Amino acid sequence: MTTNPSPVRVRFAPSPTGHLHVGGARTAIFNWLFARHHGGTFIVRVEDTDQARSTVESEAMVLDDLRWLGLQWDEGPDVGGPHAPYRQSERLSMYGATGQRLLELRHAYRCFCSEEMLEAKRKKAEVEKRPPHYDLTCWRLSPSEIEERVAAHAPFALRFHVPKNDDAPFSADVTIHDLIRGEVTWKRESLGDFILVRSDGLPTYNFSVVVDDHDMQITHVIRAEEHLTNTHRQVLIYRALGWEVPELAHVSLILGTDRAKLSKRHGATSVAAYADDGILSEAMVNYLTLLGWSSPDGAEVFSIEHAVAVFALDRVNAAPAVFDPHKLEWLNGQYIHVADPASLRKYVVPYLYNAGWLREETPDVDAWLDEAIDAVKKGIGKLSQFVAAMRLLFEFEPRHVLENETLATVVPEPSAKALMQILAKDLTEHGAPVDAAGYHALADRLKQASGLKGKALFMPLRVAVTGSDHGPELVRVIPLLEKASYVRGLAAVLPPLARVESLLAAIGV
Ligand code: GLU
Repeated sequence: MTTNPSPVRVRFAPSPTGHLHVGGARTAIFNWLFARHHGGTFIVRVEDTDQARSTVESEAMVLDDLRWLGLQWDEGPDVGGPHAPYRQSERLSMYGATGQRLLELRHAYRCFCSEEMLEAKRKKAEVEKRPPHYDLTCWRLSPSEIEERVAAHAPFALRFHVPKNDDAPFSADVTIHDLIRGEVTWKRESLGDFILVRSDGLPTYNFSVVVDDHDMQITHVIRAEEHLTNTHRQVLIYRALGWEVPELAHVSLILGTDRAKLSKRHGATSVAAYADDGILSEAMVNYLTLLGWSSPDGAEVFSIEHAVAVFALDRVNAAPAVFDPHKLEWLNGQYIHVADPASLRKYVVPYLYNAGWLREETPDVDAWLDEAIDAVKKGIGKLSQFVAAMRLLFEFEPRHVLENETLATVVPEPSAKALMQILAKDLTEHGAPVDAAGYHALADRLKQASGLKGKALFMPLRVAVTGSDHGPELVRVIPLLEKASYVRGLAAVLPPLARVESLLAAIGV
């Protein structure tokens, strides 16, 4: 563990109840960027006190998702750190001790009311059109009444007392200067006495978060806007304990393209689902960074280093951000188009295995694959699309060509048929080209022999060797197909001559 001279300490505090959601990922990224920009410390703290919903599997998934994004943390449940443990379920004694202190300071009290009693009180308040605040029954118990209940082992929760303004040791009216949203104020009246520790001994979120942020010396709390309403309670706990409140920054909601809060309804919302679908982690980080933040130079495609260098909370927008999967795919495409093929290969190969086109990885295949990846990558928005884009290299079925409405009109035309015959003859005599020069020579001979040019020449040529009317440039495809037949492990790829001949046979020529 290196000691960090920067005072900036931020945390990402996931609740492990599933995969990391894109909203959580964006919060993590903003925290990480802020820490790295300031040379500070980025902490991961697992908030797993909701025992019904938290699982160890989910914690592992969330940490994996963060690793996939490339967000290294300096302190956390797996790497440890000076404020360990970093899992709330392992910090219960700390909440207990702080709860005890609040009890002694009379800022908190034991509440013996059962869930049923509380529910009845809430209902009554609703009928009487009063705010559903706790009615202070247990706040008013005398010391002997409390003692009696404790002696009888009556279960109790620990409840925070919100002081009245006139007798208060601290003000229960709260104003914060949110670094993103500006001034936000809450009045005392909006709050009733609230639970700090439940009768099962587990702390509520509002309590554990304050104890941990204080203990871990968090300087800036950067989190989702949905927690803004919790801040009133949290500030009161800080005040009661005489602790300094960290700087607060609430990042806006993420909406779907229909401007409703992003949910499963809009499609995939977990980072892992996008990873599976072929979004590169660099593109995901770049895209999520743009959700509510913009680079001062207006750049949309930028490296993480650039974002670290210029990231500041004052460029984070208070208005909700819209998550647009199409824009994510566009951005991902920008990364794919400039990536070198060898670095894409490791992502593409599993798809090719899945498609049944590759069986065993051999070094011979790598060079050919890199050429193939390079030839098709221009049209790719996400890695999974390599399958569709590369199909024409691995599969060639005359039957499919003839069943395709557009292609079926190209092939039987007399000039196309004639061209294919000339092509078959040329490939037999000269062999198929294996480089650009060879391809251009072939094209020239075809022009001469057929008298065709332009689309009339190139469309049937394309259909005859690729089985499709679109795709990467023929100058790249034809040599690739020919070379595949020399490569160990790619024997299933039909070379150009075999393709043309099988198509001619299929139309009975
Ligand atoms: N565990 C909370 C969540 O997942 C984090 C709250 C916070 O950052 O204060 O939403």
